[in-house]
Amino acid sequence: MFLLRPTSATNFLALNEQGNKGHALYLVDKIATKEALNPIKQDTKRALLYVHNCSTSWIYLNYGALPQTWEDPNHTDESTGCKGDNDPIDVCEIGFRVAKRGDVLQVKILGVMALIDEGETDWKLIAIDINDPLAEELNDIEDVEKHMPGFLRATHEWFRIYKMPAGNPENKFAFNGEPKNKEFAEKIIEETHQYWQKLIKGEADANGLNCSTTTIEDSPNKMDVINALTVLQETEEPGQPQDIDPIVDKWHFVQLK
Ligand SMILES: [Mg+2]
Repeated sequence: MFLLRPTSATNFLALNEQGNKGHALYLVDKIATKEALNPIKQDTKRALLYVHNCSTSWIYLNYGALPQTWEDPNHTDESTGCKGDNDPIDVCEIGFRVAKRGDVLQVKILGVMALIDEGETDWKLIAIDINDPLAEELNDIEDVEKHMPGFLRATHEWFRIYKMPAGNPENKFAFNGEPKNKEFAEKIIEETHQYWQKLIKGEADANGLNCSTTTIEDSPNKMDVINALTVLQETEEPGQPQDIDPIVDKWHFVQLK
């Protein structure tokens, strides 16, 4: 008989669990980083419940984050001139399959965009599920333009404008919005993994994050299985899905200056 051990969404998976260098793992959906064991959960405060359909761009991707990474809000990034956004690093997975909430995918890293979201560094990794039929063809950022022409331009524009319908200014990018290549992206992953190492060992200001973990032995926030099960037992059952307001289908046409 197996006993399933509760784990933290942010902290439990190793970056290269399969031992295949360059193939990071990626979780689909939002992670509640300020709650015990970091459950996967809809962020109803900061993020939108849904994203608006925005004028000229239409993109289609799966969105998640790499575990065991942290965009350190105490560190100013030299490319963007801004501090980290206090989250794991985000991933845009560009394969054809629409992933399900909570899926864990193994992805090939292709590049990264340097988004500055409301004054914070917010790297957007571009990656593809290793099981996608296109994955063999895509090995670096220039292959994306070759096999998916227009996709990167549309993704850049969408990230620029997606908060404008809610009354926010357009988002900015470092490098003029040009995506950086795989080598650069892997350097950023390694950097954010080092920040996470310090965070989980209690060597960095956690900035309100809950760093509880059931798997990292040398962490001061190590939680034993009994306490972790108690956290699970005290968690509310998921509610019923709510009706979707037809307003989500409205298209917004924004003016860029
Ligand atoms: Mg982010």
